Amino acid sequence: VENSVPAPERAIRILVLSGPSGSGKSTVVNRLIQTTTLPIEKAVSATTRPPRPHEQNGVDYHFLSPEEFETKQAAGEFLETAEVHRTGHWYGTLRSEVERAIGQRRWSLLEIDVDGAAEVRRAFPGSLLIFLKTKSLEEYESRLRGRGTESAEVIARRMQTAAAELTRAADYDFQVNNDDLDRAVGEIVGIVEEREAQIDAG
Ligand code: 5GP
Repeated sequence: VENSVPAPERAIRILVLSGPSGSGKSTVVNRLIQTTTLPIEKAVSATTRPPRPHEQNGVDYHFLSPEEFETKQAAGEFLETAEVHRTGHWYGTLRSEVERAIGQRRWSLLEIDVDGAAEVRRAFPGSLLIFLKTKSLEEYESRLRGRGTESAEVIARRMQTAAAELTRAADYDFQVNNDDLDRAVGEIVGIVEEREAQIDAG
């Protein structure tokens, strides 16, 4: 069967989803996992930031002390690490999380920032990178404020990060607009299922 879209070299079941804080990433991720028939597993990141109320260790993140994080980094346990939002807190994708999923022919989903995404792309050129956008920076700001979990100072820093991240959205395979949640999820399901068909055929 002829396929007009060539499969990327060494296509691999790694899906990276990035977008400014407040772009609704986690909602999209949860809906994506519910909607698609493909097996998708979130790669639980490690972080040195403290847990927010209701966040669970091992579910939302692996919450580590800076010392624990450094030990894992020195042991080569991370696929990528990044200091996000210049808060002094570190985030990293554990190789074990990704390897477990793709070893079982499942998709590994990484919800990480633009620096992390670039590192994953270097390590696995065949990974699938999707950037989630909303209308405007004003909208990110009001979503962040509406969440009510961050201080004004943290929000201001995140807005700077958001503006910088938007300029790097062009590095992604696809940019999906999240003004309409159902539409965004549908688009992403389509993208991932098409890539799965290519991997299957290849
Ligand atoms: P939050 O602190 O709000 O949970 O996450 C802040 C930012 O860190 C988000 O933009 C998220 O994408 C990013 N992030 C979360 N985990 C990782 C990771 O493992 N690596 C990288 N590079 N960024 C991450």
